Amino acid sequence: MLVSSPRSLEEALAALGDGSCRPLAGGTDLMVAVNHGHPMTSDVVSLDRVDEIRGLTLDGDVVRIGGAATWTLIADEPVRSTVPALAQAARTVGSPQIRNAGTIGGNIATASPAGDSLGVLAALDATVEVRSASRTRLMAIPDVIIGPKVTSLEADELIVAVHVPVVRGWQSYAKVGVRNAMVIATVGVATVVNEEARSVSFGLTSVGPTPLRCPDAEVAACEAFWTLDGTPRTPTARDIGHIAELVMEGAQPIDDHRSSVEYRRHSVGVLAARHLRTAARTLREQ
Ligand SMILES: Cc1cc2nc3c(=O)[nH]c(=O)nc-3n(C[C@H](O)[C@H](O)[C@H](O)COP(=O)(O)OP(=O)(O)OC[C@H]3O[C@@H](n4cnc5c(N)ncnc54)[C@H](O)[C@@H]3O)c2cc1C
Repeated sequence: MLVSSPRSLEEALAALGDGSCRPLAGGTDLMVAVNHGHPMTSDVVSLDRVDEIRGLTLDGDVVRIGGAATWTLIADEPVRSTVPALAQAARTVGSPQIRNAGTIGGNIATASPAGDSLGVLAALDATVEVRSASRTRLMAIPDVIIGPKVTSLEADELIVAVHVPVVRGWQSYAKVGVRNAMVIATVGVATVVNEEARSVSFGLTSVGPTPLRCPDAEVAACEAFWTLDGTPRTPTARDIGHIAELVMEGAQPIDDHRSSVEYRRHSVGVLAARHLRTAARTLREQ
């Protein structure tokens, strides 16, 4: 196995060009797989020195996060104040060591149903910028992540950036796990209340084969936060209970070593209701 260490994006894409190599970013998924007996059969292109895709910039109402940006970077400013749900998700990933190494591109490319960024990015309608030596594709999360641990990325493609809209309103990410830190999500819920678009979106993690949105709950939440003529209103306890039920119905949980169908379904309802209560209170007080 050969490891190359390109110093520019152009060199990295050229190295991936014939489809026989795979990218290595933080190695916190890839090397774990190797340690668990999945031998590395291809050569490796390390992204460690490709500075063009390791940073992030705030450009108007979009944060452009490099594909090899670490969780430590994403948990801090300017993401913390512009896309707080993503910064919250970043803070829940692993330990400080994992957050210093692990990257958003690696999280997306691994496409684990439990990936903490994925529900947030789905709820925010983020766009993934994917490049090869010859083309660029801008893709929505559901077009990239097409199954559990399955993506539509070609072997010569790299996630070079994630474009995340800055939304005025309220947003949060919360996760349930078997302990308080260093834990893979049993359930994760991202909620985004967009005051400009007058929309509410939910992105669910770990309760489906891919990150899930909840269209029925989103319509009901929209009606609970705004009247038909667009006037803001405060959702009632009954509204919130109804929306949480719809979120629970939208989940597609399975039984596995981390949890049961029943517990997962119950938990998404609890987290969604908690988010909606906090969003309603925060927006009312503004
Ligand atoms: C102890 C521990 C705790 C963890 N806790 C969490 C957690 O709480 N939440 C969570 O979501 N995850 C967690 N993880 C998983 C992992 O840290 C994340 O998924 C991380 O974001 C992976 O990024 P990476 O840079 O390390 O990916 P790598 O391991 O380098 O790569 C993973 C996969 O993505 C591909 N890849 C990497 N970068 C790119 C790119 N730019 N374009 C295309 N393909 C690419 C690689 O070829 C490989 O297939 C944990 C892992 C460990 C070991």
